[in-house]
Amino acid sequence: MDLDDTPQQAAHRAQVRSWLEEHASEAPVLNGPDALQDEQEIIAARRAWQGKLAEGGLAGVTWPKEFGGQGQGPIEQVICSQEIARAKVPGILDAIGVGMLGPTIIAHGTDEQKSRYLGPMLHGDEVWCQLFSEPAAGSDLAAVQSRARRADDGSWRLNGQKVWTTNAQFASYGLLLARTDPDVPKHKGLTMFIVPMDAPGVTVRGLRQISGEAEFNEVFFDDVALDADAVVGGEGNGWATALTTLMFERVTIGLGSEGLGYNSNRFAHAIATNEDARRDPEVRHVLGEIASELLAVRFTGYRTLTALQKGQVPGPEAGLAKITIVNGAIRAGELIADVQGPDALGKDSEWAYMISFLPGLKSAGGTEEILRNTIGERVLGLPPAPRLDKGIPFSELRSKEAAAA
Ligand SMILES: Cc1cc2nc3c(=O)[nH]c(=O)nc-3n(C[C@H](O)[C@H](O)[C@H](O)COP(=O)(O)OP(=O)(O)OC[C@H]3O[C@@H](n4cnc5c(N)ncnc54)[C@H](O)[C@@H]3O)c2cc1C
Repeated sequence: MDLDDTPQQAAHRAQVRSWLEEHASEAPVLNGPDALQDEQEIIAARRAWQGKLAEGGLAGVTWPKEFGGQGQGPIEQVICSQEIARAKVPGILDAIGVGMLGPTIIAHGTDEQKSRYLGPMLHGDEVWCQLFSEPAAGSDLAAVQSRARRADDGSWRLNGQKVWTTNAQFASYGLLLARTDPDVPKHKGLTMFIVPMDAPGVTVRGLRQISGEAEFNEVFFDDVALDADAVVGGEGNGWATALTTLMFERVTIGLGSEGLGYNSNRFAHAIATNEDARRDPEVRHVLGEIASELLAVRFTGYRTLTALQKGQVPGPEAGLAKITIVNGAIRAGELIADVQGPDALGKDSEWAYMISFLPGLKSAGGTEEILRNTIGERVLGLPPAPRLDKGIPFSELRSKEAAAA
């Protein structure tokens, strides 16, 4: 594989870079002494910035042109992310919407849903959240218990709870996986819905993190009325629709490390500020290991890109990138904290957020154990874990589990 830009890619990179040079001064400042402080102000500024990125063709790069995207390939998306990281400006606010939920609506939504929702999503006018995980359905997502019942007029009533919902505190809409038929095996009785977050009966409660922020939420649904046209991808087809979202999640996280700023040069700079650490062979050794693992991820990422470029769906090995990036960044964070001491976690430290956020990122988008299970079964061909729930109606599962306990 030729790792240099092709002439077309180089032209695309130059165009993106020149747009960023012209507009970088309009980007919100999120770090350092001039950083915005007020949460509402930050969100408003980031929404406006997302709108500018979309107008400049730097958001929705792979979305079809008819929905406001650029109709380009994943390589062009990666080039955009690399250039945004290079310009040290924030990316889009609604990475979950534009990166995962929008593509799900493009793949499974009706024409009306596409024309109503995609434009405002891309431009940051309406932020979206992913209402999948529940207290008893995370790794085992198909176990969701939020229940939607259809009324005689075709509308729906929704009851239940979601958790860890990123951005729900300011989202306009959520894409929600609910159980619509408990009398069939668990993967079959699910349906995907679009839920307006301001509908009567929706309650959002923030979860405060170690970093002080509250980016995630619990969301409660108390007899929420949904119109018949809220269904995405057809009744009973929720699992297939969710798999589309999860595939885009895997790609977004796997290819997104450049945008996250988890870069061994940055780590090395932070450590080199300390003369003793710079000369310490143990520190240099750990840094070398992190750098070589991140380099290996980059090359694995090229394989994922090659698959995407050929129109193939990247395989489960893409999950390995997430595990390696997160574990590498955690080790780097520990090293930086050792070298810089308590300052590394201080209010003005550029590392405080990364260090406190990474343990959560271990779970987001699939935990390490689940990703390793998948790689074991689907890449290495190891025997699958026993599935005791196979073929059993969801409504009978709990009594069977209770009897087995
Ligand atoms: C930062 C962050 C953001 C998130 N944002 C969202 C969001 O916007 N929307 C959303 O819907 N969800 C979101 N999530 C939830 C995320 O998808 C779940 O945390 C994840 O799927 C794991 O589920 P869980 O937390 O319920 O853990 P569990 O599934 O309860 O797992 C607990 C532990 O058991 C292990 N385990 C479970 N099953 C197995 C098994 N079969 N084999 C071996 N080990 C196993 C796990 O690896 C883990 O260590 C977010 C999570 C985080 C941390």
